[in-house]
Amino acid sequence: MEQLLNKITDSGLDPSSVAGEEAIIFWNHVRLHIATTGLERAQCFIISAEYRSELLQVQASIDELRLALEQLSLPQDAEVILSVRNSLSERLVDTGDYSSALAEYISSSSIAVEHGFIDDYVLSVLGMGNLCDAYGDHNRALRYYQKIDSLDHAISSRSLRLRYKLYMLSCFIELGRIAAANDLIRECEELSILVSDKILTGQIHLYQAKLFRLQKKYQEALQTVANVQYAAGNVHSSWLSNMVRLELAHCLSSVGRADVASLVLHSAAKRIKDHSAPILAKHLYDSTSAIDEHCGNFQDALKNQKKAYRIESDLMKNIPISELGASQLRRLSRFELQLKLILSEIENRELKETTESQKNTVAQLQQDVFTDPLTNLHNRRWLDVKLKDLLLHETPFALMVIDIDHFKSINDELSHLVGDKAIVNVSNELATYFRFRGASCVRFGGEEFLVILEKSTLEQAQMHAENYRERIFQFGWHDILGERGLTVSLGITLHREGENTQRTFYRADKALYRAKANGRNQVCTE
Ligand code: GH3
Ligand code: MG
Ligand code: MG
Repeated sequence: MEQLLNKITDSGLDPSSVAGEEAIIFWNHVRLHIATTGLERAQCFIISAEYRSELLQVQASIDELRLALEQLSLPQDAEVILSVRNSLSERLVDTGDYSSALAEYISSSSIAVEHGFIDDYVLSVLGMGNLCDAYGDHNRALRYYQKIDSLDHAISSRSLRLRYKLYMLSCFIELGRIAAANDLIRECEELSILVSDKILTGQIHLYQAKLFRLQKKYQEALQTVANVQYAAGNVHSSWLSNMVRLELAHCLSSVGRADVASLVLHSAAKRIKDHSAPILAKHLYDSTSAIDEHCGNFQDALKNQKKAYRIESDLMKNIPISELGASQLRRLSRFELQLKLILSEIENRELKETTESQKNTVAQLQQDVFTDPLTNLHNRRWLDVKLKDLLLHETPFALMVIDIDHFKSINDELSHLVGDKAIVNVSNELATYFRFRGASCVRFGGEEFLVILEKSTLEQAQMHAENYRERIFQFGWHDILGERGLTVSLGITLHREGENTQRTFYRADKALYRAKANGRNQVCTE
C-alpha cells in the first residue's frame, strides 16, 4: 500500500483531499492511470468499495470487492484475499444473500488453512455459525463455534477471541444453559479487561442482564442493562443499542412496569428496519409479542408474533442450512487436524530455536569464562584445564613465556590507556602469528603471555619465538607510542615427560629472566 501511496504523491495527487463520490472517482483514476500491478489495482477497488459502503451503495461495493479479487492471486496475496473475502461476506449478509456469504466462508476457510492464517480461519467458521444462529438453530451454531476451541490459544487477535466466546455465550443463553453461560461470562469479563472495546464490553453486560433475567433476578438484570455503554456510530453499536432497548423492555415488564416497557419498545421499533436488519426485527417482534402477552393484550401479541414468523420463514428460506450440515462440519474437522499440525510445527520450531539459543548462551558463557576480555586470548582458567588435558594425554609440548619490556614506563609516560592499547596489539600479533601453527595463546597476567606449542621441538619453538620477537620489534608502534618503540623478551623450555607443570614453568621463567638480564628483546631457552 505504501508503494502505491508513494506513486500517487509522486504524480502530484493527494488522496487525503477527497471524500465521498469524489473519492470513488479519484481511486478509479488511480487504478487506471497510476497503479501498475494487480495488487495495486485491487487496493484501488478495495478503497473505492469502502467509500461506496459508506454511501450505502452496498451492491456496487460488493461488485468492486469481487473485481478486487480478480486482480489478486495466490499464494502471494493470500492475506489480502482473505481480508477482501471477509468484507465481502459481511456485506453479503447485510443484503440477505446468505448463500453467497456461505460460499465466501467456505472458500476463505480453505485458503486460510492452506496458508496458515488462523484468525481468518476462525472468522470464516464464526460466519458459518452466525448463519445457523440466524436460522434459529443454536445447537448447530454451537457446534461451529466449538470447532474453534482447540485453536483458542493460537488466535492472535484478543478481540476476535472475545467475539468467538460471546457468540458461544449467546448460544448458551438462547438454549437456557445457565451454568455453562455463567462460567463463560466470567471468562469473557476477564478477557475484556485486555480488549477494552466498548461494544464488546457492552455485549457482556447485555448477556449478563439476560442471564439475571433467566434466573429471575430482575432487579440485578435491570441494573446491569442500565449500565451498558456504547459509542454510537457503526453497525455493531446500533445492534447493541437496540438489543439493549429490547432487554430493558423485558426487564421493565418483568418488574411490573409494562407501560414503560412499551415506550422503550416503541423507541426501538422506530430504529429497526425489517429489511436491513431482519434478525434484529425478529427479536423486536418477539419481544413486543411477549410483553403484549404479559400485559394481556393477546390481539397485539398475535399480530407481532405473525410479523416475527414472517421474518423467520424468510430467513429460513434464504439461509442455506442444508449446506451447513454434517458434511460441512466434517470438512472443518479435517481442517482442524491440518491446523493443529501447522500449529505444532510452529511450536516445534520455536522450541528448537529456544534450545538452540540456550545452547548458544551456554557456549557463550563457557567462552566468557575462559577468555580474557581485553585481549580475547585464553585466560589462566583455561590454561589450568589445558595443562591437565596435556598431562592426561601425555602430549609433549613446548612452553613459551613472553613479557613486554619496560612496560611500566609506557604506563607511566603515556597513560594506562595507551598501555592497554599496546597490550591489545601485542596480543593480536600473537594470535595472528600462532593461529595456524597448532599453538594456544594465553594472557597469563598483566603484560605477560604464554604460548603452548604441542608436539614441537625446542628448535621449532625457538624459530617461532624469534619470528614473533622480530615481528613485534618491526611493528608500526609509531601511531600508538610515538617516538618510543616496543620489544618483548621470551623464555622457552620443553615439558619433560612425567614432570609436573610447575617445574616446566620454573625453567621457562628462568629462561625469560636470562633474556631480560641479557638486555631484553631476545629469546632464551632453558
Ligand atoms: P620488564 O622489562 O622488566 O618486564 O619491565 P616492566 O616495566 O615491563 O615490568 P614490571 O613487571 O615492573 O611492570 C609491569 C607493569 O604492567 C606493572 C603494571 O602496572 C602494568 N600492568 C599490568 N597489567 C596491566 C594492564 O592490564 N594494563 C596496563 N595498562 N598496565 C598493566
Ligand atoms: Mg615487563
Ligand atoms: Mg612482567
